[in-house]
Amino acid sequence: MTAADYAEGVRSADRSILGRAFTLVESRKLEDRVVAEELLHLLSRDSNDNAIRLGISGAPGVGKSTFIEALGKRLIADGKRVAVLAVDPSSEISGGSILGDKTRMPELSRAPEALVRPSPSGGDLGGVHHRTRESILVCEAAGFEVVIVETVGVGQSETQVASMTDCFMLLIGPGTGDHIQGIKRGIVELADILVITKADGDSAALAENTRREFAHALDILQSDRNGWQPRVLACSSLDNQGVGDVWAIVVEHREYLLTDDRLTEHRRQQRLRWFHDAVDQLLHEQFLGDSDTAAHVESLRAQVLTGEITPTAAAARALVRR
Ligand code: GDP
Repeated sequence: MTAADYAEGVRSADRSILGRAFTLVESRKLEDRVVAEELLHLLSRDSNDNAIRLGISGAPGVGKSTFIEALGKRLIADGKRVAVLAVDPSSEISGGSILGDKTRMPELSRAPEALVRPSPSGGDLGGVHHRTRESILVCEAAGFEVVIVETVGVGQSETQVASMTDCFMLLIGPGTGDHIQGIKRGIVELADILVITKADGDSAALAENTRREFAHALDILQSDRNGWQPRVLACSSLDNQGVGDVWAIVVEHREYLLTDDRLTEHRRQQRLRWFHDAVDQLLHEQFLGDSDTAAHVESLRAQVLTGEITPTAAAARALVRR
């Protein structure tokens, strides 16, 4: 298939071509890269800033998939089309999957107006797939109005997801004050919206307390960024309580971005960050793609493991061509 064939299939949201287009843009094979670049070029020409790029992050078990399922169903009922890119950084850490092998978001996965795409991070730096941004473009070209990038709150994945989305939402389970201390301040500061999950049944009161504590903590941090004061809400995805209120804040945040050209600037910064990340990625791939260098690095790894050489000295030596 040519790039033009792919582009046509993507634009008409043909399921099977969409699946192949994701695989193509994610591929590391050189021959695929050529077609992928051409496809992205074609798709970026008709991309506009209309779609909402929403990042959703949170610890395993906090209720991300249940929340996204509830939110997605609500959006579909409102006539919107929703894509979910679920980024799983765990393959790198445990060799397994944190997002889980269980079927996540079963109803959304089956809905014709939705698309759920799991994407293992494949051991990339920061835990976000190296082609997540490309996949976002594909979703937008296929006419999805809301593109959700979901990631497990591990390491740097939040920072990465925040840098590729317009609105970043952090999900937090109901808990105690210690819990707040444990959630890294930097991550809370990244969030445009904090959602306390499971505000129902026995945990309803605890969720409300947690919401108040975070609201208070954010007041103290004064993490007002460029005029947007981050919001804290509690909701129950199981009872479908408060999910609509969370979406209303996403819409409000969107309106905020649309004033004073903030969205344009935001997207410009997203592209710049994308460029820098792509340079890092290419440097990495090209450097280690050379078999002599790879062997040299491998032998240095062995010396680092035995303590014969310090990691920093080994890094400096790795860069010296022999
Ligand atoms: P994820 O790992 O963050 O995607 O979390 P899941 O969505 O798989 O949810 C983890 C567990 O929390 C499951 O047993 C869910 O049924 C439960 N859960 C999720 N949302 C809610 C909620 O709104 N209320 C209650 N009571 N439980 C929930």
